[in-house]
Amino acid sequence: MLKTRLAPTPSGFLHLGNAFSFVLTWLWSRRHGAELFLRIDDADTQRVRPSYLEDVFYTLDFLGITPDSGPASVSEFEANYSQKHRQELYMTAFEQLKAQKILFFCVCSRAQLAQKQACLCKDKPCSQAEGAWRLDTEVIGYQEIIDWKAGAHNVHLHRQMPHTVIRKRDGGLAYQLCSLMDDLHFGINVVIRGADLWASSAIQLALAKQLRCKDFLDAVFYHHPLLLTDNGEKMAKSHGSDSVHNWRKSQSVRAVYETLASLLALPKPHLVCSLKDLEEASAFLIWPKIALEYE
Ligand SMILES: [Zn+2]
Repeated sequence: MLKTRLAPTPSGFLHLGNAFSFVLTWLWSRRHGAELFLRIDDADTQRVRPSYLEDVFYTLDFLGITPDSGPASVSEFEANYSQKHRQELYMTAFEQLKAQKILFFCVCSRAQLAQKQACLCKDKPCSQAEGAWRLDTEVIGYQEIIDWKAGAHNVHLHRQMPHTVIRKRDGGLAYQLCSLMDDLHFGINVVIRGADLWASSAIQLALAKQLRCKDFLDAVFYHHPLLLTDNGEKMAKSHGSDSVHNWRKSQSVRAVYETLASLLALPKPHLVCSLKDLEEASAFLIWPKIALEYE
């Protein structure tokens, strides 16, 4: 059984790019008969706000998307699905990576690292108590990703995400490890995400290789094109005009579908008024066939 997920991070109000990603993932899951799971990345407790968490559910409601599994409300999420409940799982993986000597302890700040272009903590034991655990991307080198649509790509980890933080200064486990462990925990075998996350996929695959997580290494990856702002920039979570939050107040959902239909270059986008219409109108889109083992 194929299982994919929507994986928002409630660190800001979702924008139309997130909505685009939700709808594409939903369309993909309907086309391939995959289960759609809602998985929320709330590990970054400094940036997560209750209103942002509520916004995830409002956005899904607004778009008319009902995931097949996962939390249906904020309270259900808090009670059963929050990453707070899986700290032990993340900690075990972290200890395993540490034992493999693929991490190093680092006291540098982000600004210091950017300035020096290199971390000086790597090869010397550090006695300071406060610091982060980073992945030694220099020893990993390249990581290959097989994308369902784009084919094989090699990502140079050290150039793209030098010394990614695995355990933060405050002791919390960072996004890359929590996200990987959650996809494994919930049995996700199709990862659909925006093209801005190629490097994240590479880091997570490199971690999965270290942890010998075959299920993640065998997962299908699809990095979809990003919806850009009018200035051609990547959208950022904000209160701005691109937020679904604002769109909900000022526009009907029909306008969202029409916009998405235009972006997908569907014929007569103005006739696309609902999720159902979008599904029907996109039936002709050529979706590459998925790897045979999942057929
Ligand atoms: Zn350092």
